[in-house]
Amino acid sequence: MDFLPIFLDVRDQPCLVVGGGEVAARKCALLLRAGARVTVLAPTLSAAFDADLAAARIAHRPGNFRDEDLTGCAVVIAATNDGAVNGAVAAAARARRIPVNVVDQPALCSFILPSIIERAPLIVAVSSGGASPVLARLLRARLESLIPAGYGRLAALAGAFRDRVKARLKPAERRRFWERVLEGPIAELVFSGREGEAGKALQDALDDTRLALSGGEVSLVGAGPGDPDLLTFRALRLMQQADVVVYDRLVSQPILDLARLEAERIYAGKERAKHALPQEDINQLLVRLAREGKRVVRLKGGDPFIFGRGGEEIGTLAAEGIPFQVVPGITAAAGCASYAGIPLTHREYSQSVVFVTGHLQDGSINLNWPALAQPRQTVVFYMGLLGVDILCRELVVHGLPGSTPAALIQQGTTPQQRVLAGTLDTLPGIVHQSGVRAPTLIIVGEVVKLRDRLKWFEPTA
Ligand code: SAH
Repeated sequence: MDFLPIFLDVRDQPCLVVGGGEVAARKCALLLRAGARVTVLAPTLSAAFDADLAAARIAHRPGNFRDEDLTGCAVVIAATNDGAVNGAVAAAARARRIPVNVVDQPALCSFILPSIIERAPLIVAVSSGGASPVLARLLRARLESLIPAGYGRLAALAGAFRDRVKARLKPAERRRFWERVLEGPIAELVFSGREGEAGKALQDALDDTRLALSGGEVSLVGAGPGDPDLLTFRALRLMQQADVVVYDRLVSQPILDLARLEAERIYAGKERAKHALPQEDINQLLVRLAREGKRVVRLKGGDPFIFGRGGEEIGTLAAEGIPFQVVPGITAAAGCASYAGIPLTHREYSQSVVFVTGHLQDGSINLNWPALAQPRQTVVFYMGLLGVDILCRELVVHGLPGSTPAALIQQGTTPQQRVLAGTLDTLPGIVHQSGVRAPTLIIVGEVVKLRDRLKWFEPTA
């Protein structure tokens, strides 16, 4: 972050605008909206100021800028078309530690003015830190169409009830209460202009706190294979409402960063052979957190129901009577295949796809090899890196040609993605020479050779 986003209280504070043109008039109007006492310093004022002058909302001081003009100022904006004057204002303000903005000259600014969406008292501010004001404005336009006009009135209603709700409910209950109010029928009443009824309904909800006192819940959320863009909308929404996020090693940092800032983050591990928390402890942890009334997001790599032990975790929740939901995610096979340009099925080459675990147990992999070593089928091995020698060998022993194409995808869908391609005969050697890092996925089948034609979109290519 290049700038600290803050909202400044300038109500009844003296503020100075240097410059009398149209840009200065716009800045002046903004300060007036925030309740500032504005003095405009310029030899002459353009017509854009006429209304404010007539209504005596601003004071006009003709003349040139002098250092003393800054005395007592809360904020100063330089908006002249004279670089020397702007520079002088900036230098003088900085010397006195008065926040200064110079229009279109970020280097001279100690603060910048964001693009805003106003639903007073609600304000959304967007800034690109000066890098691309156009981009900030485009984003602003999109947000503008996304945020209902009634949000200002909704915020005002919430403001009127804030103290009452605070007196009645504990902090954790308060947030849930408000979320229910602000996303439910009461909000709809406000949007349709029925504030009176909305106020009454809000008071009723507060009197009957059962609405606010229901317990916690657990969402078992698939976070996809790594690229945050592959999250579902629901995953994102739940992450942004969570009190606690319990996550696995496979969940990438950029995804974790999207969770609510205040959410507690608990690492549950799941590294090969050194589970940070045994599965049973994770199951019990989820139950305990939900019993404390928390909204828990159990974030898992890929899809929770594919080699994710999701069934065990919700089994415990169901047995304990904890409300839960499961949110599917993009599984590693789907993500890696797309990003590596390997279609998992193809009319000519493969009519079925099998997901199996290549996890080594006591030095061997116990799988139904004859069923896997079938022509016109794609086999995807999860957790197969350590067993790569065994699984390539077994497939050949059970009938697949040694020339069958096979690929290993490392850290698929992330900027670190690497694809090593060969055949059942050559892949183990390629992998051993390449210093591969987990997590990796192995795809075996004729479809792998389509990659040469289809790999145009590989992120690292
Ligand atoms: N539930 C997860 C799988 C968990 S098992 C899912 O649906 O994807 C863990 C295995 O998933 C890893 O050993 C690896 O084989 C695979 N995996 C997960 N993310 C991966 C990624 N980004 N790239 C390659 N393989 C991945």
